[in-house]
Amino acid sequence: MKTSRADQEFGSLLAAVRRIAVEVTAPQADPVDREARFPHESVAALREAGVLSAAVPREFGGAGCTMVELGQLCSVLAQACGSTAMVLAMHYSQLACIARHGQESDFFRNYLRELVARQYLLASMTSEVGTYGDTRSSICAVELGNGRFVLNKDATTGSYCQHADAILVTCRRDKDAAAGDQVLVMARREDCSLKQTTSWDTLGMRGTCSPGFRLESTGAQEQIIPGAFADSSAQTMVPYSHILWSSLWWGIAADAVGRAANFVRGQARQSPGSVPPTATRLAEVSLQLQTMKQSWMSAAQAFDAIGPGAAAQEELLGMSWALRLNNLKIACSDAAPQIVHRALQIVGILGYKNDSPFSLGRHYRDALSASLMISNDRIAAKSASMLLVFKDAP
Ligand SMILES: Cc1cc2nc3c(=O)[nH]c(=O)nc-3n(C[C@H](O)[C@H](O)[C@H](O)COP(=O)(O)OP(=O)(O)OC[C@H]3O[C@@H](n4cnc5c(N)ncnc54)[C@H](O)[C@@H]3O)c2cc1C
Repeated sequence: MKTSRADQEFGSLLAAVRRIAVEVTAPQADPVDREARFPHESVAALREAGVLSAAVPREFGGAGCTMVELGQLCSVLAQACGSTAMVLAMHYSQLACIARHGQESDFFRNYLRELVARQYLLASMTSEVGTYGDTRSSICAVELGNGRFVLNKDATTGSYCQHADAILVTCRRDKDAAAGDQVLVMARREDCSLKQTTSWDTLGMRGTCSPGFRLESTGAQEQIIPGAFADSSAQTMVPYSHILWSSLWWGIAADAVGRAANFVRGQARQSPGSVPPTATRLAEVSLQLQTMKQSWMSAAQAFDAIGPGAAAQEELLGMSWALRLNNLKIACSDAAPQIVHRALQIVGILGYKNDSPFSLGRHYRDALSASLMISNDRIAAKSASMLLVFKDAP
């Protein structure tokens, strides 16, 4: 149950993100996209406003935001810049892994307090050369000795790793472990060497700066998140990623529909007394946008409703939740580019131009990454095998 103080704190964070989105993120969105550069200004402003620790529980000094609240923060930012919102969403998914699975460790409890004070940014390295989009298998393994670890990984894609304060890296528990017997290791940026192995000259999400990297890292053994990654993945990384990504894809789509609505209103002003034909298309696409919002919001509310105890959290390990999150990810990642496409049909050539106030190119290109970011085919294949045995209606 949230207190009114927590509600007030969320209200201030939301107001801060709204201000940052308008004053800092939106003006930089086109240069960030054009130059495929990290959104330094926005991340600095988010740090300054304490937004990076929104997902830290209140007992460690954070705002203890719920999934619904984090989704709102990501979706507001996405209406200004999809890449910046993706950085925030990925950071929250990593932070949640520490906050929800590291609490029995003195090291991680202190790290959470440190993160609140210093507003650290966390990145993720699940992909690997040879395993590609299968987050649940690793080739690399962590090596332990004298209370320290050594971990080297060849990742295909590592968003903003060069700009993060720490990277959460999946790997096998030890050199003899099976590919799926993984742990999650927090590598501090100052203890890592990162050699860029591929480029990041992509269609969209250019500001996430996500090339391949060869990581060499070391650190204290206590930087390994307790428990199996199988559990932190199902109970935290997958729900946070899929719900928060969906919220930000919705934000991209919402801004596209907002631009289309401005265009239609402009047409209406030019011929008072008549409803332009594009208004009907606007009504149709707004329905799809609303459906998309209801999908991520209801998943976020259901997630927040699960009790904090271990028995309640077990629910997240079941097929029902796995299927729900897979369906959410596939539905929202398919819907976002479709909605932007429909907005483009409403606006026409002014949406196709890169230098018009109705331009939709960046929205379109950013939204196209959604179905690839953990391939929908890969997710659908996992759902297909679960549905052979899971008989409840979704
Ligand atoms: C914007 C963005 C940011 C990212 N950031 C990060 C990051 O920070 N850290 C990180 O580790 N990774 C990151 N990734 C990588 C991402 O999580 C996936 O690992 C990557 O997109 C998958 O690459 P892939 O399409 O080559 O791999 P695959 O999933 O192997 O897909 C390759 C092809 O195989 C097909 N395929 C795969 N499985 C099946 C199946 N079972 N049935 C049928 N067809 C199948 C797919 O449809 C696709 O055509 C990011 C990706 C994007 C787009």
